Amino acid sequence: GRTRAFIKVQEGCDHHCTYCLTRIARGKSHSRTLNDISRDIQAALAGGAKEVVLTGVQLGGWGQDFAESKRLGELLDHILSIDGYKRLRLSSIEPWDFSQDLLKFWSDERLCRHLHIPLQSGNDRILKAMGRPMTIIEYRELIETIRNKLPEIAITTDLIAGFPGESQEDFEATLAFVSSIGFAGGHVFTYSPRPGTAAFKMKERVPVSTGKERNAILRKVFNESGHDYRESFIDRDIKVLWESSQKNGDENWNLSGLTDNYIRVYATSSSDLWNQISQVHLKADHPRRNALLGNVKDDTETT
Ligand code: SF4
Repeated sequence: GRTRAFIKVQEGCDHHCTYCLTRIARGKSHSRTLNDISRDIQAALAGGAKEVVLTGVQLGGWGQDFAESKRLGELLDHILSIDGYKRLRLSSIEPWDFSQDLLKFWSDERLCRHLHIPLQSGNDRILKAMGRPMTIIEYRELIETIRNKLPEIAITTDLIAGFPGESQEDFEATLAFVSSIGFAGGHVFTYSPRPGTAAFKMKERVPVSTGKERNAILRKVFNESGHDYRESFIDRDIKVLWESSQKNGDENWNLSGLTDNYIRVYATSSSDLWNQISQVHLKADHPRRNALLGNVKDDTETT
């Protein structure tokens, strides 16, 4: 069994990012029907899953390819009408696909306070060259709108370092922008040219060594802002879904799991709490990992 069920709701993508091979390989967005998605969720719940994670190459485009076009909100509405799970998480959503009226769904506590919203670059000229239909001002406004409604939400992102034409100045603009947002975490990819993509033909390639240096600097920013984000939850109680448990000697279990807002937590307990949700007191930084240490407050499952 699995604690989290990854449910694919669509494949393909209608966007045209110039570096992206997925778009070329998988074609246009193709959505799965509400019935098929419900059936997968019911099967996962029958298998014991506590959390449903909605995935898709372009999750935010769900339903738009149906003869009678639908929006992501209708999918969320439908899934939230299903009982039997504790958490619902969106895997990744493009900033221009996130419509503000989706925020109302977070009044249902099962929706995790976590959004992964790819940025890719913090520089408008590079975003344009990437074919990303968005400016950094629009991105910032979106994040502010989300945080106004959900102040403690974890916002994570993806970045590409060393995209063709990215000057030192462009990179510094990205660095400043990324620092100012304060992401709870993120992934940085060093640009690598993919034959068949539009970016492959772009002339001003950035040396791989430069791309790697920029990557390391951006990772450091994510590490620091991620640390700050986690730190703001120390000394507080929060629910954790335990994803792994290991016997530690005769008496104890070592547990690892996630909060709804995507903080990794380690704790020990006197019983095996795998696939249970416990109330946990977060007490300190983990000495070696991007995680927190916690004390399980009560070994009986909370709901
Ligand atoms: S939105 Fe994602 S999948 Fe679609 S083209 Fe851009 S990078 Fe590729």
